[in-house]
Amino acid sequence: MWRRKLQFSASLLPLGGGATSSPPPPFSNTIKNYPPFISHSSTHNSFFNELNQKRFDFFSWGFKNYRFQLNLLSAQSFCSDSGKFKCWKCNGAAFLFCEACRSVQPIDQSVDYFQILGLEKKYDIEEGSLEGKYKDWQKKLHPDLVHTKSQEEREYAAEQSARVTAAYRTLSDPIARAIYIMKLEGVDVDEEERISDPELLSEIMEIRESVEEARDTQTLNRIQEQMLRELGNWSRFFADAFQSRKYEKALSSIQRMTYYKRAIEEVIKKL
Ligand SMILES: [Zn+2]
Repeated sequence: MWRRKLQFSASLLPLGGGATSSPPPPFSNTIKNYPPFISHSSTHNSFFNELNQKRFDFFSWGFKNYRFQLNLLSAQSFCSDSGKFKCWKCNGAAFLFCEACRSVQPIDQSVDYFQILGLEKKYDIEEGSLEGKYKDWQKKLHPDLVHTKSQEEREYAAEQSARVTAAYRTLSDPIARAIYIMKLEGVDVDEEERISDPELLSEIMEIRESVEEARDTQTLNRIQEQMLRELGNWSRFFADAFQSRKYEKALSSIQRMTYYKRAIEEVIKKL
């Protein structure tokens, strides 16, 4: 099936260091214990579909806390059929790795992290399903496996392996995943944007104080549980807002999730 694919100027997260054979942890083991996410059907008809070969360097909607930056370099058609990807060596069908001639393929930037991990492009995913897919790829792409091959293919392996790691890290983390899926829709999230919402500011102050004043493990655990609950709630708000293309709400949910995550990190430091 042919559809439109938006291509962006830069990847959201650094690819990270060398590939590892074991999966890197999501941002915190604690965060793995999210409440289950509500499932939503995917709505992937980009609202930028009609744009083609246009560039918006800065596009601001001027929402209260955030600015949207749209770095839409180009939109290109591509075929989601894996037959589109041809092996550089034997010209057979190959996606990341050619099963026929056992060659690692060069990076194709039109492939997003969801495709790499075999997922439909939507926010709600089965996070537990990512590790298996990640490990499967590393069994084929890890640079150690191609050390006898050409310099070119060794470079492909290093890049593909790092990209699979980045995909796994990004999609395992509910906040990074939210930011990434927004970016795929053409909305950049400025994580350093200052908060001006007085309600959120006072809530943050309260949380900070309660963490600072906590003197025992029990209190810290209680705060952590509360933050995890908030994180789960706001990730669901994000999913709803994203699905209905309410990007202001989606961004505000990301901002809140980020603060709850920071609060959890503070609690962990004290535990
Ligand atoms: Zn091949």
